[in-house]
Amino acid sequence: MPLPRGYISHSQIRLYNECPRKYFFAYVEEIRPPVNDKVFLGEMFHQAIEMHFRSRIDGAPLPDGEVTSAFVAAFDEAAATREINWQAPQRETRERGLAFLRYFLEHIAPGIRPLMTEKELSAELPGSGVALKGVIDLVEEDFCITDFKTATSRWSDSKASQSPQMLIYKYLFDRSFGPVCSSLKYEVLYARHAGNVRHQTLRLAPAAEAQENLLAMIDRVVRSILSGEFQPLETPYCRYCEFRARCLVKAPG
Ligand code: SF4
Repeated sequence: MPLPRGYISHSQIRLYNECPRKYFFAYVEEIRPPVNDKVFLGEMFHQAIEMHFRSRIDGAPLPDGEVTSAFVAAFDEAAATREINWQAPQRETRERGLAFLRYFLEHIAPGIRPLMTEKELSAELPGSGVALKGVIDLVEEDFCITDFKTATSRWSDSKASQSPQMLIYKYLFDRSFGPVCSSLKYEVLYARHAGNVRHQTLRLAPAAEAQENLLAMIDRVVRSILSGEFQPLETPYCRYCEFRARCLVKAPG
């Protein structure tokens, strides 16, 4: 079978590695379960910081109050039209998102020199010729590649270093513009409640063989999808899976 989207991306790779059958439900059958409230909050936060960075890149920075008002309006509009799985009350989730945004505008944004935001990049993978695509949250003037995360708790160093996301972005950036001397970092904002926002910067220094290993891993995932391998990968986390009911009754293929 062809790749469902005609290309591969970090989110597809992450989902396939998490559980091939989950990938099948999401990308082959295109089932769209209600979005989790934490994911929704993250989407709204990213939309707001993109607005902030784009205004600065365009030379007409928006006042912070305009960015926070736009966040509230976009949050309420999207919440009214989309199916969301609210695990915390909607109002509480919005306040937490607003607190993240205010923290970002006050403590993180002033130290950033944005060059590109939400930059979509694509490159053909060696061997298969399949297109690898990614959208980078932020590239700074010194070519530092940054991804922002919103979370309920602090990230561990291993969580940051084990994810292939930034390696994929670095690979795409170098294939598009380089190779360029650039650094990689996650900016993680975390809080369980609006009144207690914290922040960590996690810098990554990939090993020399990281790119080779990355390309081999992506190649394995692509070949498995093309071969129609969508076996279930049962773990204790299955009880949180949004496709659990289908998985119990229906085998793919
Ligand atoms: S319930 Fe478990 S095995 Fe089934 S799709 Fe979800 S994660 Fe995969």
